[in-house]
Amino acid sequence: MSYERKKILVLGAGYAGLSTVAKLQKIIGVQEADITLINKNEYHYESTWLHETAAGSMNWEEGVYPIAKVVDNMKTRFIPAEVTKINRDEQTVETTQGVFEFDTLVVALGFESESFGIKGMDEFATTIVSPQTAVETREEIEKNFINYKTSKDPKDLSILVGGAGFTGVEFLGELVETLPVLCKAHGIDYNNVKITCVEAMPSMLPMFSDELTKHAVDFLEARGVEFMLGTAITAANENGFVVKVNDEEKQLEASSVVWTAGVRGSRLMEESFEGVKRGRIVVKEDLTIDGYPNIFAIGDVAAVMNGTGENARPYPTTAQIAMQLGEHTAKNIKLQLNGEKTEGFEYDDKGTVCSLGANDGVGVVLGREIKGKSAAFMKKVIDTRAVLKIGGIVLGATKGKFL
Ligand code: NAD
Repeated sequence: MSYERKKILVLGAGYAGLSTVAKLQKIIGVQEADITLINKNEYHYESTWLHETAAGSMNWEEGVYPIAKVVDNMKTRFIPAEVTKINRDEQTVETTQGVFEFDTLVVALGFESESFGIKGMDEFATTIVSPQTAVETREEIEKNFINYKTSKDPKDLSILVGGAGFTGVEFLGELVETLPVLCKAHGIDYNNVKITCVEAMPSMLPMFSDELTKHAVDFLEARGVEFMLGTAITAANENGFVVKVNDEEKQLEASSVVWTAGVRGSRLMEESFEGVKRGRIVVKEDLTIDGYPNIFAIGDVAAVMNGTGENARPYPTTAQIAMQLGEHTAKNIKLQLNGEKTEGFEYDDKGTVCSLGANDGVGVVLGREIKGKSAAFMKKVIDTRAVLKIGGIVLGATKGKFL
């Protein structure tokens, strides 16, 4: 009897892809399948820590670890390469390091910044979507603060943050901690710093109660952040943002302009599949793509629906759900290898915490509202748990947040 090992190809080593591989390595025998993981960098980065790098409270190296530390060479081959094309019917994937065949494909290519076609945004604003863009954001702020010493132009001490979603708020929380330090180092009076956050919706952090949102707003306002809610950004230029207030356009001036108001799934999704919106494809309950029982889409490239019918809404794309999707995908692949039926995904929502710097935050954990120091502590637990779950005890001990 001829016996051929199945080829499992995993694209992307973010929370979803790496969780898939980590789980597959535990439940699949060497003889059962060949696992290949393709990722454009040789390292995994904690995308939920990027706001810390962008604000200067963490070096980018602290939030990354080599993928090799997670890969079991007996079971998995890791290829550092960029995916350029997915041929779903031919069952091949083209990359900068050649073409790979698959029997089972896991698409976990993650997120990118989305500027919704707003004029000048890609050109004039920095983002917080990768270690590189986070470092760019930090360097831009630092450069402008240093410029201020000679220019004395208030614009150089002004920072505009577009969007008051989780990324924007967590970034602001770090900024109000690190900017006073930066000012001190350069002999700048922090009172001259102007931080403005512009949000299109009339309120922010809609997933939290009024009390928690108020805590976050009060915390940030007390440290100098000004919020402009119900204000849509319509353009970016060399002077800052153009916003719309009461149907009138207004120029907001700042040298440092950061866009945290939009993310989308990988652009490769539109090129590879049909029915993709903003890089996300609706997946079936077992996380496969309709008509392709051998292709799973997970993490930020997937719209995993909560509920059915007209009321169904996609779950938000978080690290927590991405890791659960990865583990579930590994279990379903194992079932398929055994010739058994795949199972539907059920999300176990353990809660969410939005940090406000290192020592404060707001959140809901296991159904309980928390704020202040306990929220900051829980955030560290969540961050450390992510490293532990994927990388095991050794990485947890070196990269965790309780060192
Ligand atoms: P988001 O889409 O959640 O928030 C973007 C914000 O920008 C929204 O409030 C939106 O109204 C606003 N906006 C959009 N266009 C605008 C415009 N033209 N002018 C002004 N404001 C505009 O994006 P995000 O914060 O990057 O989060 C992405 C996902 O990642 C979410 O699902 C989030 O829950 C998750 N996340 C979670 C955490 C955490 O758990 N701590 C941290 C970061 C991100």
